[in-house]
Amino acid sequence: MKQSMTLIPTMREIPADADVKSHQLLLRAGFIRQNASGIYSFLPLGKKVLQNIEQIVREEMMAAGAVEVLMPALQQAELWQESGRWYSYGPELMRLKDRHDREFALGATHEEVITSLIKDEVKSYKKLPLTLYQIQTKFRDEKRPRFGLLRGREFIMKDAYSFHSSQESLDDVYQKMYKAYSNIFERCGLNYRAVIADSGAMGGKDTHEFMVLSEIGEDTIAYSTESDFAANIEMAPVDVKYEKSSDAPDSLKKVDTPDQKSIDQVSGFLNKKPEECIKTMIFKVDNEYVAVLARGDHEINDIKVKNALGAVSVELAAPEETKEKMDCPVGSLGPIGIEDMKILADTAVEFIVNGVCGANEEGVHFINVNPGRDFNADYADLRFIQEGDPSPDGKGIIQFAKGIEVGHVFKLGTRYSEAMNAAYLDENGRSQPMIMGCYGIGVSRTLAAVAEQFNDEKGFVWPKNITPYDIHLIPVNVKDEAQTKLADELYASLLQHRYEVLHDDRQERPGVKFADSDLIGLPVRITVGKKAADGIVEVKLRETGEVFEYTKAELLEKLQ
Ligand code: ATP
Ligand code: MG
Ligand code: MG
Ligand code: MG
Repeated sequence: MKQSMTLIPTMREIPADADVKSHQLLLRAGFIRQNASGIYSFLPLGKKVLQNIEQIVREEMMAAGAVEVLMPALQQAELWQESGRWYSYGPELMRLKDRHDREFALGATHEEVITSLIKDEVKSYKKLPLTLYQIQTKFRDEKRPRFGLLRGREFIMKDAYSFHSSQESLDDVYQKMYKAYSNIFERCGLNYRAVIADSGAMGGKDTHEFMVLSEIGEDTIAYSTESDFAANIEMAPVDVKYEKSSDAPDSLKKVDTPDQKSIDQVSGFLNKKPEECIKTMIFKVDNEYVAVLARGDHEINDIKVKNALGAVSVELAAPEETKEKMDCPVGSLGPIGIEDMKILADTAVEFIVNGVCGANEEGVHFINVNPGRDFNADYADLRFIQEGDPSPDGKGIIQFAKGIEVGHVFKLGTRYSEAMNAAYLDENGRSQPMIMGCYGIGVSRTLAAVAEQFNDEKGFVWPKNITPYDIHLIPVNVKDEAQTKLADELYASLLQHRYEVLHDDRQERPGVKFADSDLIGLPVRITVGKKAADGIVEVKLRETGEVFEYTKAELLEKLQ
């Protein structure tokens, strides 16, 4: 590409409203321009990087057995009403009306559209499994669009959806997608980590996020120094309804008293009779009864929402006087795995007395348990996890890192197929809801994440696999005939060798050309300068700054 023919509007100044490196450089090097808050145009260089990432995504999707489709961005409200998300998705969903006053949404995601499509087109187990994907513009009216492409209101996503007749088949495709995602982010050169995630509003259970490690990341990851354990500690709050319950089963109301020593201890603290020191509180979480054994003077302060590992924790507040006496503002019972609560609802008291959970300060709980030490590792509430704690899987210690979520895979189960009646006939002719998975990658966010990771003080340093061009060819003085001639010859040869070349044929000062070249950051720069008369050019590697001199023949030999 001749630089005089394309549009690369570089800027020397750092744009005032861009506060992270990737955003500043994408603007300065002329890759993108902002139209409105969270809404961007991709200029030629930006579009090329986007295409390169998309190409990697397409190759890996194909390898995972997924087939490309393209669905509408404009979606009828009815579909979202059927799934219930018209009411639960909130203001992030952009809604509009057509001329007949019918309601629509701009696609924030496509579970509804694809489920309604597959429901009509696939009726038999023989057609399953099936995995479809698309690369498309998504719309989300984000509360705080920021960091350029990292959190836009209009952005490009690859979203894939799989349909199955068995859980094993879903597990199999989930694994393939997980692998495909790892390949994609590796090929993009990203320093990433797959982490256990929260299913949030999507209603899934098994789910992982792919996080690019970066200081500007909005998520916090807890990971082990010695094992694969890694999880997003930030909770997407789901509504956990709770109420104190008097209609609980009798078995729950029977309190097994904890050991005498603990009672004596509490009794001493509170200066109350032993029988007043302990009480059972019963409440409902997600329609399940849960019993918590608490100190006599405690009230339920708050029941925390589910966290990334599906755990619910209960916070109990002590009255002011006790707080002072004990230096213990909040006694906390929990974390308790919600799965365990369900299974153990009848024996929850025993569960607690046995010391699976306890207060969060030594000496103020009934039974001598401590978070981190005695909690069921599988359900450890990560909100309590601190750097330096032992990893919940028992291997290594916990470190924190900030991450940018670039991909997300979910096992959706039958959440959408049941709501929208997407069923197939099994081998015995019985109707069954389809089992689903969904898999998203923020393509434009991935571009920004690479931009964030690959730069230095002069500009971008694009990794080979996704660089907009391989080579920046720069004749220093286009009025010099020898230089122009050699540059033109090289340009033709390089194209013949299938290199992507940006040819700076502009009549600009050398300083401008080199500064632009550093800013744009292509992996290899070929400078055709004074030695052109002797047929010699200079090759400079952007990453290391190494410089070599070659004749045209040597260069072509090297580049074979
Ligand atoms: P976030 O937690 O950052 O808001 P999300 O969990 O809402 O993201 P998903 O619904 O999982 O996003 O969508 C799949 C992928 O789309 C995300 O992993 C992310 O890479 C990308 N994505 C989501 N929201 C945006 C956005 N506003 N701008 C750019 N990319 C986004
Ligand atoms: Mg979001
Ligand atoms: Mg998220
Ligand atoms: Mg997500």
